[in-house]
Amino acid sequence: MQSLDDIDVAGRTVLVRADFNVPLADGPGGSRVITDDGRIVAALPTLEHLRRAGARVVVVAHLGRAKGEPVPELSLQPVADRLGELLGAPVPLASLAEAPAAVAGLRPGDVLLLENIRFDARETSREAEERQALAEELAALADVYVSDGFGVVHRNQASVTDVARLLPSAAGRLVHKEASIFGAIMADPARPFVVVLGGSKVSDKLGVIGNLIARVDRLLIGGGMAYTFLAARGYGVGTSLLESDQVETVRGFLEEAERRGVELVLPVDIVVADRFAADAQTDVVAADEIPDGWMGLDIGPRTREIFAARIADAGTVVWNGPMGVFEMTPFAGGTLAVARAMAASDAMTVIGGGDSAAAVRILDVDEDRFTHISTGGGASLEFLEGKTLPGLAVLEETA
Ligand code: ADP
Ligand code: MG
Repeated sequence: MQSLDDIDVAGRTVLVRADFNVPLADGPGGSRVITDDGRIVAALPTLEHLRRAGARVVVVAHLGRAKGEPVPELSLQPVADRLGELLGAPVPLASLAEAPAAVAGLRPGDVLLLENIRFDARETSREAEERQALAEELAALADVYVSDGFGVVHRNQASVTDVARLLPSAAGRLVHKEASIFGAIMADPARPFVVVLGGSKVSDKLGVIGNLIARVDRLLIGGGMAYTFLAARGYGVGTSLLESDQVETVRGFLEEAERRGVELVLPVDIVVADRFAADAQTDVVAADEIPDGWMGLDIGPRTREIFAARIADAGTVVWNGPMGVFEMTPFAGGTLAVARAMAASDAMTVIGGGDSAAAVRILDVDEDRFTHISTGGGASLEFLEGKTLPGLAVLEETA
């Protein structure tokens, strides 16, 4: 895979795929405001390098779940404004139709943002010819393609894979860093290699366990996924999150962990609540004593101590998924304990989940204490599942 250092971009037009899928909220006067600009900030090293090197820069990105037609609420205009502030230079926004004229007016060092590419149905089409037609329009705008949207490299889409085959291509700084870190973790992690899993998307994450169980030394399970494991042990889980159809699979993991000598650690105590609310009545109970009608919304204090101890002497820690419903203060303690234990350790520490990364920021744990906080939840999960990511494979193929 080529990096930015392998390509000469002076005086050339470079098409950059970025991940600008930022969270937005309603602002004054019907406007939309960005609530977390982390993904825009993450693209700056690549964009600043290209500007300094004298390239004309055209950025392509998507926002939200646009379904192939323009919707004003999903315009990238707020992103163009914020990017302009961060770069200290105006960033005009152009639709695909306006793009050829807008690109023709760029000077070296200028940056242009294309409007939400998912306003065009061909971007995510399953028909290769449709994607190809869009990719050709994009490729015609530039001389070189740089892939820097790590959050989309697991997608086979026109602006991610198809266009990379039409132009000389390279990985941007962000994609290069993410791919190197996850590549190193999968190839030769410093041991003990500890993976902490939680969150709510249990079935999504079972593939990760299936692949990692042969590689890790310890697997710490918390969050919503823990209850499917507790159920597999035969415990009652009340009204906690439970994927009954996954209990058999999970029982298989418990057996495999035992056979391989992998330490699979489940919660021993649970913060339960009588309903899903910040002002619910709560209690701490043993993991095998969740009362009927109550739901587990966080790992308990004893479990936090055990998890922290299993993290403290690790060589590598990868964390995906909050330990509880951290968005509500009474259920944030478990997530905070894991974040603090990782921040305190000298291990290589990587966070690979959108909500887990958000939790670290919201709970005010020092982000600089982590080796890496991934910008791509889905992409990092697929990496950990051992899958081939099409947006990375294409860069290797064309290098
Ligand atoms: P990530 O984005 O880090 O991969 P997920 O998207 O899988 O994580 O899950 C995040 C969500 O999981 C959070 O909104 C959190 O409230 C929820 N969650 C964590 N523990 C529980 C639980 N015990 N019951 C219900 N939801 C939970
Ligand atoms: Mg999530």
